[in-house]
Amino acid sequence: MKNTDKCSFCGRTRKEVQLLIAGVDGFICELCAEQANLIVKEELKKKGDFKLQQNKLLKPIEIKKFLDQYVIGQDEAKKYLSVAVYNHYKRLLQTDKGDDVEIEKSNILLVGETGTGKTLLARTIARMLHVPFTIVDATVLTEAGYVGEDVESILTRLLQAADYNVEAAEKGIVFIDEIDKIARKGDNPSITRDVSGEGVQQAMLKLLEGSIVNVPPQGGRKHPEQKMIAVDTKNILFICGGAFEGIQKKIAQRLNTTIVGYGASKNREVIDKDNLLQYISPLDMRAFGLIPEIIGRLPVITYLNPLDRQALREILTEPKNAIIKQYIKLFEYDGIHLNFADDALEYIVDKAIEFKLGARGLRSICEAIMIDAMFELPTGKHKEMMVTLEYAHEKLEKSNLKRLRAA
Ligand code: ADP
Repeated sequence: MKNTDKCSFCGRTRKEVQLLIAGVDGFICELCAEQANLIVKEELKKKGDFKLQQNKLLKPIEIKKFLDQYVIGQDEAKKYLSVAVYNHYKRLLQTDKGDDVEIEKSNILLVGETGTGKTLLARTIARMLHVPFTIVDATVLTEAGYVGEDVESILTRLLQAADYNVEAAEKGIVFIDEIDKIARKGDNPSITRDVSGEGVQQAMLKLLEGSIVNVPPQGGRKHPEQKMIAVDTKNILFICGGAFEGIQKKIAQRLNTTIVGYGASKNREVIDKDNLLQYISPLDMRAFGLIPEIIGRLPVITYLNPLDRQALREILTEPKNAIIKQYIKLFEYDGIHLNFADDALEYIVDKAIEFKLGARGLRSICEAIMIDAMFELPTGKHKEMMVTLEYAHEKLEKSNLKRLRAA
C-alpha cells in the first residue's frame, strides 16, 4: 500500500485514518466502514419489522397472556382478538405460499361501554404486532365532498404506519374506533342528508370487503395534485369498536320476542339483565342502524364487560403500566419512596364509581390527590411518602372535586 491511497468513500488519505481496508478497486476507512454498518442495520431493521416469520409468531394463548399484562378482565374479547390476529398471520403466510384453499379474513366488531378498554386492547395488540397498525376515529369521516375526512384517509394512516411500504400496508391491521357513530340516524333516510351516517358506511364497505382503493399519500383534500397510491385492502384486517349506546334496549326487545316466539318456558334461558351486551348479535347491529352489508363484513362480534368495583381496583395497581406504578416511578426519579395505603386505593375507586367516571376517572382522581406532592416534594428533604386515606380525602376535597363532579 502507498501513502497516497485514499478511502474511496470519504476521500481521506492513509495518514488521516487508522485503518484502510483494500478492496478490488479501492479502499474503505474504518470510519466509513462503521457508518456503512449502521446504515445496513437500520435498513434491514426497517425491512425486517414487517417480515413475518412463522417461528416468531405468538400462538393465541400467548397473545392473550400478553394482553393480560396490560388489560384487566375482558377475557372474551381478548380471546376473539387473539384468534383473529393469529389467523390474520396465518392467512398472510398462506398467501405467500399461494395455496388453493383461501382463508378469508374475519374482521371483528368490539362492542362495549366507553372506558372499558376497547382502545387499550387495540393499542396493546399493536405493541406486539409484526404488521403495520393504525387507529382511526370514525367520527371524523364523512361522505366524499363534505367537510371532514374521506374514508380513504384510513388507508393513508396505515400507509404512514408502514413507512409508505405498500406491500406491508396491504397486510396491516386497522382499528376503527367509534364505528357506532356512523350508524344511520333514524329509519327514514330522506329526512336530512345523512353525510356522516349511511353514506360513510357505503364508502367504508369497499375497504372492508377488499378492493383496490386509490389513496392520497398525504391524506386530506388539501393536496389535490398529489399522486394517488393504489392499495389493495383484501388482506387488511379491520377491527371496529363502538359503545353502541342504547343497544341494550334493542337486545332486550329481541330477546323478549324470541322467548315469546319459542313459547316453551322450560327452554327459557336465564337472562343476565345487567349485562345484556353479552347477547349481542348482528340483528341488534341492524336495529341500531348499521347497513346489512357492513354487518356482513364484520362476521365476528364480541363484547366488553362493564368494569365493576373489583376491576377498577385492579386497574389501579395490576397492569404492567398501572397508574399507581407510574406515580411510584415518577417519585423514584427524585429518590422518594412512595406508598399508597390500601384504604386510600379503595377510596379512589369509590370516588371513580361515585362520579360515574369509570376507569378514565381513576387518573383524574389520582392527579387531584397527587398534584401537591408532585409539586412540593422534589425540592423537599422527605425521602418517603405515604398516601393515606386521610391524605387522599383531604386533597381531593380541597382540589378540583367540584370540577370532577360536574364532569
Ligand atoms: P374505550 O376505548 O373502551 O372507550 P379505553 O380503552 O380508551 O376505553 O379506556 C380508557 C382508559 O381506562 C385506558 O387508557 C385505561 O387506562 C383504562 N382502562 C379501561 N379499561 C381497562 C381494562 N380493562 N384494563 C386496564 N385498564 C383499563
